[in-house]
Amino acid sequence: MDTTADRRWHSIAEAVRPETRLLIDGQFRAAANGQTLASVNPATGALVANIACGDAGDIDAACDVAAKRFRQGVWSRMRLRQRVDILIRFSELIAESSDILAVLDTLEMGKPIAEMCAIDVPGAVLTMRFMAESIDKIAGSAPLTNPDALHYILRQPLGVVGCITPWNYPLMMAVWKIAPALAAGNSVVLKPAEDTSLSALLLGRLFLEAGGPDGVFNVVPGRGAVAGQALARSMHVEKIAFTGSTAIGRQMYRYAADTNLKAVSAELGGKSPQIVLADVEDLSSVAEKIADGLFGNQGEVCSAGSRILVDRSVHDDFCDLVAGHAARKYRPGDPLDPETTMGPLVNKMHQGRVLDYIEGARQDGATPVIGGGAIDRNAGGACFVEPTLFAGVDNRMKIAQEEVFGPVGAIIPHAGVEDAVRIANDSPYGLAAGVWTCNLGKAHRVARDLECGMVWINGYMNGDMSQPWGGWKLSGHGRDKCLQALIDNTQSKSVWVTLD
Ligand code: NAD
Repeated sequence: MDTTADRRWHSIAEAVRPETRLLIDGQFRAAANGQTLASVNPATGALVANIACGDAGDIDAACDVAAKRFRQGVWSRMRLRQRVDILIRFSELIAESSDILAVLDTLEMGKPIAEMCAIDVPGAVLTMRFMAESIDKIAGSAPLTNPDALHYILRQPLGVVGCITPWNYPLMMAVWKIAPALAAGNSVVLKPAEDTSLSALLLGRLFLEAGGPDGVFNVVPGRGAVAGQALARSMHVEKIAFTGSTAIGRQMYRYAADTNLKAVSAELGGKSPQIVLADVEDLSSVAEKIADGLFGNQGEVCSAGSRILVDRSVHDDFCDLVAGHAARKYRPGDPLDPETTMGPLVNKMHQGRVLDYIEGARQDGATPVIGGGAIDRNAGGACFVEPTLFAGVDNRMKIAQEEVFGPVGAIIPHAGVEDAVRIANDSPYGLAAGVWTCNLGKAHRVARDLECGMVWINGYMNGDMSQPWGGWKLSGHGRDKCLQALIDNTQSKSVWVTLD
């Protein structure tokens, strides 16, 4: 249905002329080798843009200038209020550009425009503002010591921070990384994911427009194995702030070990359990929220609640309820239509990977309650997959152990609270978990016993800027969003003064 609101987003998409060149030292330029990356709309298969594809030479140029600007102090030693003002203005410009930023991510990765407007853009604005306002809330200290000495501890920026981001929340993940790094006074080189570079390049322009000095925030799109690797190996870079898969996260530690032992913060994959205990009162409302925690953003969410652990006594009713809610609410459609709740997967290769997991689950003996295939919407280039739920899953199956990163959930029966916690923790990942119960004591006990970085009780994926975002185990060890993220972009210096 072609509503007025629907046409509005298509008009913006047709009119947008995105920046496609690298940003180095305040100048937009082609990649030195002239290469480009094709960005393809996964809802249609149409070309969105050809984007400059940086290689190691471009990354080196960006890191050189970032290091030079850091040493010059144009940002790292700028008067504090001025830095705060520029970052606040940056957050305002992100808000003022919200329609274009929303459209760029939707065109490149297929996220429903309604989600961009409700979650990603406001999340980016809030993060930038929070980090700007937090700059003078972190402090060193001056511990008491001997009468003939003064000891104080400074917190100082690191130098150059390299940020490497994934495609599933292109704008928001970029801001989660660059905001604390810039606020702490570092220079930044951002390497966005191959499929989604356009909002990152616009962020670069907005930083300059806000008054950010040239060369402090550089954006170099390019291939992970080339540009990403060069950034993570750069001797100029003091920290890599990485969000992405566990496999590539491991590489970050190797690169650091092989080069200058730079700090690494890694936000990695997940296979998060949502535990439903037998005492829940309103099973239908819980089922609805569980479907939201699984199918939002097409399931391309690190913290997607993709293992649904349900008490055996309510298992069958619960499967029907989740399936019903999913079928009613999550119908894949045109992501530029504001009514759409589920878009395509990011690209053909990823669609194939998700379909392979679905086929593998069938072969392992799991039963699809809904979905289980691709959707051939419009054209061969479209990358849609049906919302899919498997029942009768054993936690040892591949579908329960590995991150699918698509709209695929596994319902696993449990035999009570202890069994549920055992199954929940039987995973190499430890990003997030949910627990649904009317028994407060049980809820807090389960939260304490779960091996993961974030737990939601009677809710899923809600939160605010104070919430440390990050995981345990193979989900990585970094923390985004919170004050700690800002502190993690600084290092301590101990100064010992002899008074006599
Ligand atoms: P990915 O690991 O394939 O890529 C992430 C980034 O790393 C991209 O920019 C990519 O170009 C780059 N890269 C790839 N190979 C590289 C290499 N050899 N050297 C250096 N850089 C390289 O991940 P993805 O497919 O873009 O994103 C999905 C993954 O991200 C999922 O596993 C998801 O769970 C995870 N994720 C985690 C969080 C979190 O907060 N924990 C948030 C969002 C996404």
